[in-house]
Amino acid sequence: MLNKNNNSTKVSVIGLGTMGSAIAKVFIKKGFKTTVWNRSENKSQALVAEGAIFASTVLEAIAGSPVIVICVLNYDVVNIILEKHKGELAGKVIVNLTNGTPEQARKVAKWVADNDSEYIDGGIMAIPPMIGLPEAFILYSGSNKAFEDNKEIFDTLGTASFIGSDPGLASLYDLALLSAMYGMLGGYLHAVTLVSTENIKAIEFTPIVINWLHAMIQVLPHLAQQIDASDYSLGGVVSNLEMNATSFVNILEASKSQGIKNDLMSPMKTLLDNGVKEGYGKGDISALVKMLLKQ
Ligand code: NDP
Repeated sequence: MLNKNNNSTKVSVIGLGTMGSAIAKVFIKKGFKTTVWNRSENKSQALVAEGAIFASTVLEAIAGSPVIVICVLNYDVVNIILEKHKGELAGKVIVNLTNGTPEQARKVAKWVADNDSEYIDGGIMAIPPMIGLPEAFILYSGSNKAFEDNKEIFDTLGTASFIGSDPGLASLYDLALLSAMYGMLGGYLHAVTLVSTENIKAIEFTPIVINWLHAMIQVLPHLAQQIDASDYSLGGVVSNLEMNATSFVNILEASKSQGIKNDLMSPMKTLLDNGVKEGYGKGDISALVKMLLKQ
């Protein structure tokens, strides 16, 4: 259990890339006794100068604290590091903030539990400069007890949200949120490329895109209700799927004739057409979840 009234909180950070370093920095600033390890030792030096305790081996980092935060490139690296220290993890809390899939998270969680430690998986919805600020939204799942016992550590990194005991959930939410982000960025990139063919600068067009996306985002709760009810006309339809499928063709044709590729747009056209074919034309665009669920 953490002592919240002094700086005796101990935490180790394994992996000092851009994200791991940002995490360690925030712990040091908070006054935690922060032990750091990185494969390339040079990345530890700046943190040691700020007050971190240098670990020359992973074993030292594990031995240094009850809570071990791992933030490395991918799960292959996580697995290698943990596997090598199988015998030294008993009683520790492993917090894995490395990006991965729900399946990878569940597998590591089981392995950690089999080695008498507790596991928390995390999904960081932030970039390194945001770490430590309330805007850094971090999702956690796995051991609820370990999360509650070490809440101070999680709260230090940003706004912590525990979403469930299934260790795969944080990663599932993380990847779903990233999907929404990539969809938006893909649409944005197509939009600015399209107007660029008439020498309109992205900087000029972007505020208009932002206003449009702000307006469109308002429709999401309405679509969500329809999706949860599997009723794609629930609450009324003002822009039906058939109309969307018809006008979408214009995006593809205009893009082609302006000389740009439709790589980002074509998959949406396929989904819209399939939705109409399957009889969802009079409903809202929310019906496309049915097309996505179909194998
Ligand atoms: P970096 O590429 O900056 O750092 C990668 C880290 O992994 C380094 O510490 C590197 O060590 C270590 N590493 C790579 N291969 C090995 C290996 N074989 N053995 C030991 N250590 C290894 O990545 P980030 O810090 O940016 O990202 C870390 C995690 O955080 C990723 O899973 C990423 O998806 C996630 N994340 C990152 C965000 C970001 O904006 N940066 C945002 C949200 C999540 P070395 O220094 O020796 O190369």
